[in-house]
Amino acid sequence: MTDSCCGCGKAIDVRALEARQRRVLVAVLAINLLTFLLMVAGAWYSRSSSLLSGALDNLGDALTYAMSLAVVGAGLQAKARVALLKGVLILGAAAAVAVQIVWRLFHPAVPLFEGMGVIALLNLGANLVCLKLLTPYRGGDINLASAWECSRNDVYEGFAVLAAALGVWMFGTGWPDLLIAGVLLLLFLRSAWRVLGSAWREMKGDTATGQ
Ligand SMILES: [Zn+2]
Repeated sequence: MTDSCCGCGKAIDVRALEARQRRVLVAVLAINLLTFLLMVAGAWYSRSSSLLSGALDNLGDALTYAMSLAVVGAGLQAKARVALLKGVLILGAAAAVAVQIVWRLFHPAVPLFEGMGVIALLNLGANLVCLKLLTPYRGGDINLASAWECSRNDVYEGFAVLAAALGVWMFGTGWPDLLIAGVLLLLFLRSAWRVLGSAWREMKGDTATGQ
């Protein structure tokens, strides 16, 4: 329980939440799932790698919240197994994004700025809505505090994708897109790795934290 750097990917103890807080969690889950689909479609349409990279985090968040809601009341072992499954899923998705970025390095293309910009704005807006929904619980419940922190990081990431779109527009080249895509992928892998590590340790049974 010591990763204070970035709250993304941490499971949430749903049992500790009130009905109203659960509804907020479901809403944030739905928004993340929708933006994930929107960004994948947008990445496809506008040939943008940074949209695809940014979509990973939304997928990870949606899975984390879904998982938290699904394993209410389950034992630590079952929770750790689900967390590992999630980890494998998002690492698989990250590998696919990495392959796409490398492929794009050898087959450069200028992303369609308009498509990219519109989706980047929608993503940023969605992240801001999530942040607003979670802000009342920022200081109270520790579970939702971590979701809030995650949501705040997503807002920064939303700005990064928007900056990539602006860079593409200003310089008329795909490099800003690939640069931001690479940075986002690395940041994502870093936190995914940490979450997987703690799930693995829990599964092996050396859990000092009694939940
Ligand atoms: Zn996130």
